[in-house]
Formats: sequence, structure tokens, C-alpha cells
Amino acid sequence: MSAPDPTTGPAEPAAVDPARLRVLVVDDMQLMRDMAAAMLRAQGIGTVETCDDGAAALAALDRIAAAGLTCDLMLLDLNMPGMDGIEVLRHLAERGYEGQIALFSAESARVLRTAETLARAHNLNILGFVEKPLTDIAIAGLLRKLATGGARAVIDADEPLSEAELLDGIRLGQIEIMVQPKVAMATRQPVGVEALARWRHPQRGVIGAGQFIPLAENGAAAEPLFEAILGLALRAAAHWRAEGLSLQMAVNLSTANLTRLDLPQRIASAVSEHGLRPGDIVLEVTESRLIEDQTAALEVLTRLKLKGFNLAIDDFGTGYSSLEQLQRFPFEEMKIDRQFVGMAAQDQAARAIVSSSVRLARKLGMTTVAEGIETRLDWDCAAEQGCDVAQGYFVAPPLKPEALPGWIATWLSRRD
Ligand code: C2E
Ligand code: CA
Ligand code: CA
Repeated sequence: MSAPDPTTGPAEPAAVDPARLRVLVVDDMQLMRDMAAAMLRAQGIGTVETCDDGAAALAALDRIAAAGLTCDLMLLDLNMPGMDGIEVLRHLAERGYEGQIALFSAESARVLRTAETLARAHNLNILGFVEKPLTDIAIAGLLRKLATGGARAVIDADEPLSEAELLDGIRLGQIEIMVQPKVAMATRQPVGVEALARWRHPQRGVIGAGQFIPLAENGAAAEPLFEAILGLALRAAAHWRAEGLSLQMAVNLSTANLTRLDLPQRIASAVSEHGLRPGDIVLEVTESRLIEDQTAALEVLTRLKLKGFNLAIDDFGTGYSSLEQLQRFPFEEMKIDRQFVGMAAQDQAARAIVSSSVRLARKLGMTTVAEGIETRLDWDCAAEQGCDVAQGYFVAPPLKPEALPGWIATWLSRRD
């Protein structure tokens, strides 16, 4: 048996068979679409689909997902009548599109770079950009990058995620946070952000919270995952504070966290190590999780409260506990679930749930946050029902922490 050769570097990423890749070309000009598709096929790409506008592209993605398949690369034209490329990027972010994107445009490199920055702020995977007219060399370069950096879809994507894999990911620093702003409805002023966890997996791409938080719910990963997320959130909050931005930072707590009686002390130490105060932090707990282990949860929450942390009841209205149970827990904030907020403008029953939640919150001295404000109509309706704070795609999607200061400037100058 020969010893490993010390002169060779890390192994090259496994080459991806182009025949297994699916590429979606989105351009309003037929000539461009046909040219790009022909070039992609000539390079061995197995499936090439074309769409003539943004709406068609989103529909195609839905169709692909419904068939249990993935789109590995979208070649996206920025200038299109109707829904333009920038708007498509926002929709892709909302849908948690995990494939790669290459921006495709006759615009100047500066415009393309701005679009790229925006896409990255949305946590989308941008492979690069290609200027028009397309060349074989540009396409080949793009596919080379796809085969190495963006090989996500081909590597064991069918294998379910495991707790062991998550523990490795935490250890290797693959957990990240996005921050979603909350703004006061009366003044539009940003009042805080919520940290939302993401897992930047080297093979599977960016994995959303819904897919991996449950893996940690009661097992060995619960503690290290929470520590990692809390650390990232506190670091971001401390950084903004140093720059003169004072925003509350909200972090989600899981059931497993709530049964750990040493949690209040651990959070308090971490907060003070970052030069922050407990009043700068909001801890969000869901109503349904609360009822699972009432005694421990009540003790943990009461001690957090005594230390000066703000507590929020999350997804309000979806749990099974009766409304009176709210009185037993010392919450400052009620987050009204997006299923009611999102329906309130059209549906009278949803509107009634929102308005009675607001009334109850007021009686108990709590602030209300309307979750899932997606449109101006949702905003107006939530404001009319008396909600204090808004959160949702209409205000901002979850952003990379470094994109927050830029977002604030844009938001405060927006007039819609
Ligand atoms: P949540 O705490 O209710 O967070 C809000 C979720 O709604 C986020 O999904 C956010 O991206 C999404 N969202 C925000 N605005 C809108 C909107 O206008 N429309 C729609 N349709 N959705 C919107 P995300 O990040 O995938 O998180 C899902 C859930 O996973 C969270 O729900 C939370 O319960 C849990 N989670 C996320 N991060 C963490 C974490 O760090 N720790 C724990 N324990 N749970 C987390
Ligand atoms: Ca939450
Ligand atoms: Ca929520």
C-alpha cells in the first residue's frame, strides 16, 4: 500500500455529469433563448427549458418541483417586459430557490454587479453573470463553475438529512443567520430584527430552517445549534450597536432549549460578553411548544423575564392552548401568525382573529407584531386592526446581516 502523496492538495470536487443537469433559460427574446439553449445542449446539458418571462419561469419552477426534480441553473435576463429579472430574484428568494443563478444581460457590468449584490442579500446562489451577446466560451466557463461550486443537486440530495450531518455542519461553521426586519407601523421606523437560521451546506446548497431545525428538536444538536445561532445574532447586534444602530435582536427558542434550566444564565452571560443588555434581546417561543413541558418552560421563561429579556409568543393563533394561558406567561410581544395576517384583507374570520388578538394583547399590555405582511393591502389591513409592528416580505425578506444598513436607507426612502 502506498502512502498518500503529500504534494497533492485537497481532492477536486467530484465532476458533475452535465447530462444530469437541468438549466432554465429566461429571456423575452426568442433569438437569445434559442441561442443559449443550443449552446447549453452543445455542452452536454441534459435538460434545457426556456421561458419568455418571469411569471413563466416561476411556473416552470413549480412544475419542476412538483415533479420532484430540481433546477440546477437559471440563466436569467434582467430586462424583460412585465416581471423583470430583479422581481424574479425576489420571488426566487421567497420560494427558497436553492439552485444557481447566472444573470444574463446587455446591461453594463455595473448594473449586473448591483443585481448580483441584491441577489446575494436575498441569500440566493449567484454563479456569476454573462454579458450579451453570449459566447461558447462564456457558457463553458459558467458550466465549469456549476460543476464545481454549484454541484449541489447531484450529490446525494435524495439522502435525508441526519442529526450527525447537522452536528458536523455546526462544528464546521456552516450555520448562518439571516435577519428579517420588524418596523413600527405608525412611524415606519425599524425597531428590531429576527434572526432566522440557514445551513450553508457545501453539497446541498442553502437549507432553510424548516428542514433542519426539526432535526435538532430534542437531540444532541439542540444545544450547539442554539449556541451557534445566538452567537451569530449577538455578534451582528453588537456590530450594529457599535455603528450607532440600536435594534432589538430576536432569536427563536425551541422546546429543547426551554427545558434546560441553565438557559437563562447562559444567555445572560453571552449577552453581556457581547456588551449588550438583556433588554436588547427578544426570545421568541411558539404557543404550541409551550404546552409540551409547562413547568420547566414556565420556570425558564420566568427567569429570563427576571433577568430583563423580552419574550415574544410566536405564531399566535396556531397553538392549542387557550387564550387564558397567555396570562400565565410573562410575554411582552404577541406575533400574530401569518396565516391570519395574510388572509385578513380578504377573509372576515381571519380579520376577526387578528382584531381580537390585538384586543387581548392590549389588555395584557403586550405589543403586537403582524407576521407575513406581503402586500400593501396586508399592511393597511393590519394597521387598521391596530397591530403595532409589521414583519414580512412587503417590508423586507430575511436579509444577510451585512445588507441591513443598506436596507434601512432604502426602506426609509420608499414611498409605497
Ligand atoms: P417563524 O419564527 O415564524 O419565522 C418566520 C418565517 O416566515 C421565516 O421562515 C420567514 O422567512 C418566513 N416569512 C417571513 N416573512 C414572510 C412573508 O411575508 N410571507 C411568507 N410566506 N413567509 C414569510 P424560515 O426562516 O424558513 O423559518 C421557519 C421557521 O423555522 C420559523 O418560523 C421558526 O419557527 C423556525 N426557525 C427559524 N430559525 C430558527 C432558529 O434559529 N431557531 C429555532 N429554534 N427555530 C428557528
Ligand atoms: Ca419567530
Ligand atoms: Ca412566526
